[in-house]
Amino acid sequence: MRILITGGAGFLGSHLCDRFLAEGHTVIAMDNLITGSTDNIAHLAGHPRFLFIHHDVTNYIYIEGPIDAVLHFASPASPIDYLELPIQTLKVGALGTHKALGLARAKGARFLLASTSEVYGDPQVHPQPESYYGHVNPVGPRGVYDEAKRFAEAMTMAYHTYHGVETRIVRIFNTYGPRMRLRDGRVVPNFISQALRGEPLTIYGDGSQTRSFQYVSDLVEGVYRLLFSDEVEPVNIGNPGEFTIAEFAQIVNEITGNKAGVIYRDLRTKDDPQVRQPDISKARRILQWEPKVSLREGLELTIPWFRQELQRRGEL
Ligand code: NAD
Ligand code: UDP
Repeated sequence: MRILITGGAGFLGSHLCDRFLAEGHTVIAMDNLITGSTDNIAHLAGHPRFLFIHHDVTNYIYIEGPIDAVLHFASPASPIDYLELPIQTLKVGALGTHKALGLARAKGARFLLASTSEVYGDPQVHPQPESYYGHVNPVGPRGVYDEAKRFAEAMTMAYHTYHGVETRIVRIFNTYGPRMRLRDGRVVPNFISQALRGEPLTIYGDGSQTRSFQYVSDLVEGVYRLLFSDEVEPVNIGNPGEFTIAEFAQIVNEITGNKAGVIYRDLRTKDDPQVRQPDISKARRILQWEPKVSLREGLELTIPWFRQELQRRGEL
């Protein structure tokens, strides 16, 4: 198959490029590098089945030749990024999704949208099944991301219903691993780089808020299976292992041997979700998928990458 991956130079997009190439497909990565980097795909330069196109997907997309699948992963994803880039975030979720769907329709391609657990907002149902409609503040600081993704889901369903495009929607829960940006502000890169520098880990709020962390290879496997499944309705892909941020800090300090402990800071925004855990019964049932990598195993695979990055930048 010939596959277009928008956001292909980002953290998740680049891992998807690797997987689809490894399975023998041809991959076109499209990215405007607003939060991604060609460093993530530098190892693919010169690959006979790989092409990179520098393009903003909110503008008309032209691709010569056939396309069999469009994976729409372009979007700022970390809270710091989308707070700094609110308009671009809304545009890529709305206009970018429209352009990517239009391309899929024109090419007769299958379309997969990277949606998010943030469509559930600060959830009042726990854990979150796909049937939960969510609890989102449209005008709060996270609204730009949450509502863009909710709109993107609606647009995707509309293209399925009215234009007959074969669409898939994956609701991704917190995912981490090598190639996350050191300074993207998410808790995993923050804690690991603080721990490796021997600094205290910054816990926002009282640390009682929870997250469920998924290692990137599990996400990639879930996306791969979903794309080739028949499921049109959204599917959660995440690791149900749930930790408070305080527990997570302790685990990172333990694995890295960091003795500097933690410090408490004001919560980033008032809309910071208090709990988050995927209900993955649907993915288990229809994709025969479940995560394989535990938090400790995933951190053991991720920490060396961050150490190397910090050393490369002369920061360690
Ligand atoms: P990332 O920032 O590393 O990757 C996003 C990529 O999209 C970047 O390379 C960026 O340059 C590109 N991009 C942004 N706007 C663009 C535009 N207008 N045109 C072309 N390219 C554009 O983030 P990520 O963690 O890899 O996230 C990828 C996708 O997965 C996003 O859609 C995000 O919402 C979704 N997601 C990620 C997570 C997670 O935990 N990592 C969780 C839920 C959803
Ligand atoms: N967080 C923290 N310290 C940090 C970065 C994040 O305590 O240095 C908290 C943040 O307030 C949130 C959780 O960790 O409650 C996860 O934040 P992240 O930015 O990784 O993603 P989110 O799940 O909020 O989108």
